[in-house]
Amino acid sequence: MRVLDIQKLSVQYHTEQGECRALEELDLHVEEGEITGLVGESGSGKSTAMLAVMGLLKENASMQSEGITVCGEPVVPGVNIAMIFQNPQSCLNPSVKIGRQITETVRAKRHCGRREARERALELLDMTGIGNAKVRMRQYPFELSGGMLQRVVIAIALACEPRVIIADEPTTALDAAVQAQILRLLRRIVEETGTALLLVSHDLGVTASLCRRVYVMRRGRIVESGSVEDIFYDPGEEYTKQLLDSVKKKRKLSEGTKEESLLRVENLTKEFDTRDGIRDVTLELHEGEIFALAGESGSGKTTLARILTGILKEDRGTVFYRDELLERNGRGGGRIQMVFQDPYGSLNPCLTAGQALDEALRAAGSPEEKADREKRRERIRNMMERVGLTEEDMDKYPSEFSGGQRQRIGIARALIVRPEILICDEALSSLDAVTQQQILDLLLDIQKEQQIACLFISHDMHVICRISSRMGVMYGGRLVETGRTREVCSDPWHPYTKLLLDAALEADPLRARRIPGISAGKQSTGGRGVQEKGCPFAGECGYAMKCCTEQEPEVYRFGERAVSCFLYSEEHSGRRSRDYIMTSQI
Ligand code: SF4
Repeated sequence: MRVLDIQKLSVQYHTEQGECRALEELDLHVEEGEITGLVGESGSGKSTAMLAVMGLLKENASMQSEGITVCGEPVVPGVNIAMIFQNPQSCLNPSVKIGRQITETVRAKRHCGRREARERALELLDMTGIGNAKVRMRQYPFELSGGMLQRVVIAIALACEPRVIIADEPTTALDAAVQAQILRLLRRIVEETGTALLLVSHDLGVTASLCRRVYVMRRGRIVESGSVEDIFYDPGEEYTKQLLDSVKKKRKLSEGTKEESLLRVENLTKEFDTRDGIRDVTLELHEGEIFALAGESGSGKTTLARILTGILKEDRGTVFYRDELLERNGRGGGRIQMVFQDPYGSLNPCLTAGQALDEALRAAGSPEEKADREKRRERIRNMMERVGLTEEDMDKYPSEFSGGQRQRIGIARALIVRPEILICDEALSSLDAVTQQQILDLLLDIQKEQQIACLFISHDMHVICRISSRMGVMYGGRLVETGRTREVCSDPWHPYTKLLLDAALEADPLRARRIPGISAGKQSTGGRGVQEKGCPFAGECGYAMKCCTEQEPEVYRFGERAVSCFLYSEEHSGRRSRDYIMTSQI
């Protein structure tokens, strides 16, 4: 039975520049108990379509259709249809406790008393596998992690008892391990309640793992639809092939020029009351290499990047640059530059692209450039061209660019001062697959050409395995494993690294469905999170021993590989020997 049925939906935006057609006669349906995917690059019209269905289009938009129904009835958001958004924070009221936010939705739906609504809210929260649901009910949104908040939003959606749920990029902001838990939860909800689910995503791995049918969108039209096997193994449209190729493309890695240390971080510690602190992080970045840092959100990756660029100050520890202590102010005087995750948020909306680059040059360029306006302009023009933009783009404001173009400006701004180290903090995660590949190609070309060392922070294990020569994995503010990327990816030692790699989804339906993290039946740990005492991963670890809850493991080193886990200690597992060639114990 067709639960959601959209027939010939068209949407236009009326702008100062004229009429812009965003959707052209979109036909789409989702069956009962089915998960259907809607994929396409950003700007293809996916979100417009969903906003039109939910009646959330902006005032300057108009729509026409031959019918949008849920089980033959008109769509009533919050009654027969619910939506889960990419950013759970934006859907929750920061000043209201979690329990009350779910309870109010239950009461609005069931018109029941406070106690009954509270019991139902607890039941729903428990169903999402959040762990300690009673405690969570009494907490505020800021006290929970991104994965937990997404579970709360799912509980609120379920409280509406909808016939269909639209999930718009529900796991884009989450790391691979938490993503796997949320996808498993969505699948379980569909199986247990028969709710239909429309998954809107630019992530082809997520779509391959979860959906049976898929629609491919481009420029406001459905260009292709069918079973995931048909679309992923035998795409009929050139555009679908391009989308699939963009996630499979491999690059030759830059291994770095020398094994010489450019940046050395020793026992870096920064404590926060909440998450995202780091403890005793020690690592080295070699000249000209790409070192990738993996881990979930809140694991401390961004804090480390911010300390290195001087945005934050460490509590303890030292940073050496070419064996000399790094200056305290303005960290490295432009030698270390950063490309941020959100290119829009990191650019000043009042400055044109040219002005933003000029500002960077005036702050950290050469003395001649600082003094000579024409020299700066010439350099900015060249840099704009190098990142694939035009001279005319210099006079445009950030709002006039697409997400990919804004990220190009972010890269240009970082590179224009000729840094020796580039830190990319989730620089690709807000972009769709095709744009991701273009920006990645650009970054890798420039990195190779100029031999810049790069600290590449990402939660996407596929990207990390493809582009870095060495990597580190962070959990709970600690660096739990480091080594050569090909060795870590093919033989992970730390249980958390293994979990991350197991959960990384491929754009291949049969392989993605075999991922243990996603396959039905595997129990969630309930997201118990970082442990205060002992090994921070002990609450989630299937290999935990008695010692793991009592003391924190030190870092055990075996040549280039280092791992912080008792499984590799002689004292606790009896398997450690400096002469023994260690392979995975897990
Ligand atoms: Fe698991 Fe113990 Fe190793 Fe921590 S130290 S990762 S709990 S086995």
